Amino acid sequence: AVAYVNGRYGPIAEAAVSIEDRGFQFADSLYEVVAVMNGRFLDWDKHLWRLKRGLAALFIEGLPSDAALAAIARRLVSLSRYSDGLLYIQVSRGAAKRDHGFPADIPATLVMTVRRFNFRQRLPQLETGVSAISLPDQRWARCDIKTTGLLPAVLAKQEARAANAFEALFEKDGIVTEGSSTNLYMVAADGRIVTHPLSASILPGIARDTLLGLAQDAQMQVEERPFTLEEARAAPELFLTSTTAPILPIVQLDGAAVGGGAPGPVTRRLGALAWAEIQRQTGW
Ligand code: PLP
Repeated sequence: AVAYVNGRYGPIAEAAVSIEDRGFQFADSLYEVVAVMNGRFLDWDKHLWRLKRGLAALFIEGLPSDAALAAIARRLVSLSRYSDGLLYIQVSRGAAKRDHGFPADIPATLVMTVRRFNFRQRLPQLETGVSAISLPDQRWARCDIKTTGLLPAVLAKQEARAANAFEALFEKDGIVTEGSSTNLYMVAADGRIVTHPLSASILPGIARDTLLGLAQDAQMQVEERPFTLEEARAAPELFLTSTTAPILPIVQLDGAAVGGGAPGPVTRRLGALAWAEIQRQTGW
């Protein structure tokens, strides 16, 4: 695995940032995870758009140009020699003497890594489905910003692992918003695909954006509205999406079967569309 840190390329084990980096001390930083498939980036422009939106929200400046970022990312993939992997990008406000307020005139820290990732493991999971648990959402009020302040997500994912579940679904004020690292959907009794609308309560997922576009192009009914945990429990189908799991059926929630306990027809159809889109974009 290879890394880039502020102008230098090298092995991940030798890459380092200052212990006074504000990403390390305050989680004053943002990240992106981009799928590398067949040596190509999936949805690169959307990830760049979300990164820049987050940087603007946090007043972090001084990122290289779009073209320079793409060139660094491409060089790192070619150095890695992986055809399938994950590109991780992290931008922090920079390194300075510890003080909550913004330091004046320090350069942002830009880190990228490429690691191998096996997307093929998702294909059997698409057939069998995965299980999930529900947990209270203990995150901050700006879940739409992809900060590295991930402690509530880390604790939730660990609780899911301990329960032998793939994902933890967050519930806030009775509404089930999204997973700890995934967006969530239910298929309603009338066949509509229902997902939480974009708001400060969820991350605007790139896989979400792509999937909703595919569903609309296929004339499938999509409704963006909040739904309750009780509705989710009663739904015939539940599924999730993310960069690392383009679409996965949830067949068990809190130990109870979802629908018939097997992936349903709407999720299967969307799965075929999602993987066809990956193939179209990357030749995977
Ligand atoms: N929701 C949360 C909280 C996430 O952390 C992630 C990804 O890490 C997602 C949703 C899915 O986003 P994407 O499709 O861009 O990977």
